[in-house]
Amino acid sequence: MTTLQPTPSATPASAVDAPAGLLRVGVDIGGTRTKVVAVRDGVVLARFLRPTPRDVAVTVGPLVADVLASVLSTEHLPATDTASGVDRVGVVVPGIVDEEHQRAVWSANLGWRDLDVAAALAGHVAVPVLLGHDVRAGLLGEHLLGAAAGVDDVLFVPLGTGLAAALMTAGRVVRGSEWTGELGHVRVVPDGPECGCGRFGCLEAVAGATAVGRRWREAGREGDARTVSAAVEAGDPLAASIWTAAVEALADAFAPVVATAGTRLVLVGGGMAQAGATLLDPLRAALAERLPMPDGVAVAASGLGEWSGAVGAAHLDLGTG
Ligand SMILES: [Zn+2]
Repeated sequence: MTTLQPTPSATPASAVDAPAGLLRVGVDIGGTRTKVVAVRDGVVLARFLRPTPRDVAVTVGPLVADVLASVLSTEHLPATDTASGVDRVGVVVPGIVDEEHQRAVWSANLGWRDLDVAAALAGHVAVPVLLGHDVRAGLLGEHLLGAAAGVDDVLFVPLGTGLAAALMTAGRVVRGSEWTGELGHVRVVPDGPECGCGRFGCLEAVAGATAVGRRWREAGREGDARTVSAAVEAGDPLAASIWTAAVEALADAFAPVVATAGTRLVLVGGGMAQAGATLLDPLRAALAERLPMPDGVAVAASGLGEWSGAVGAAHLDLGTG
């Protein structure tokens, strides 16, 4: 598990701007696991995981009620905090999210379509709940308490089972139409591998962690993306070829976004980011080759790891998360 390292003595300015003293809870509902954090004044007081129920589309109300009860239990929070209750709750989900109308439009992983989350939670949760997109919230979390603290122009791309992106310009998370962030389904390799979306050569099908592992196994090897990164470090030519193809595809997709938005920091998250320098160094070099800026752009791994979405969820009222 990635260690979360809040820095209470150096709380970023953007976190200080939040109303002080509020107990904030963020709930990041993933395909298999739900991540929960409780935060006050930029300090993460508690964090824990729950399995995401298979029928979460109909049980999201009880799920959120249950995690709030857990947050307020002395198991997860200092006893002095349990009397005051939770002030803010944010729930973030993958897929297509319409934050403006607070509807979870579509999620293949969670099995829902056009879910009115406020209605689904009514009767289960007394605190008002804000709904957000997991990756946009992840960027917000990284900006407040993670590796993007102090940087206002950031591209955040978790590389996991799926691949979506979030962009921050001038300190604001960009949110346009419902398709915002679907970088994973941009075609980068004509006639490339089939993607889960039914099209061919999508970035996700070449450079997502699942895709990298699948290409490795299709070549007769065993393991997943983590195995491939270890094999790259050991000098395995097949691993190097799969890895390089992924890195080149990522750089091809990122460079136009970076150049258009004036991005200063590309933040990589998800399972692939655990490869550390094995991913970040070649990605930095590949981006620098493609960009007009002399020093390219900074490339770093997510600072909050798998908790970035939950941390952002707890602060959805502070930005377009
Ligand atoms: Zn696709």
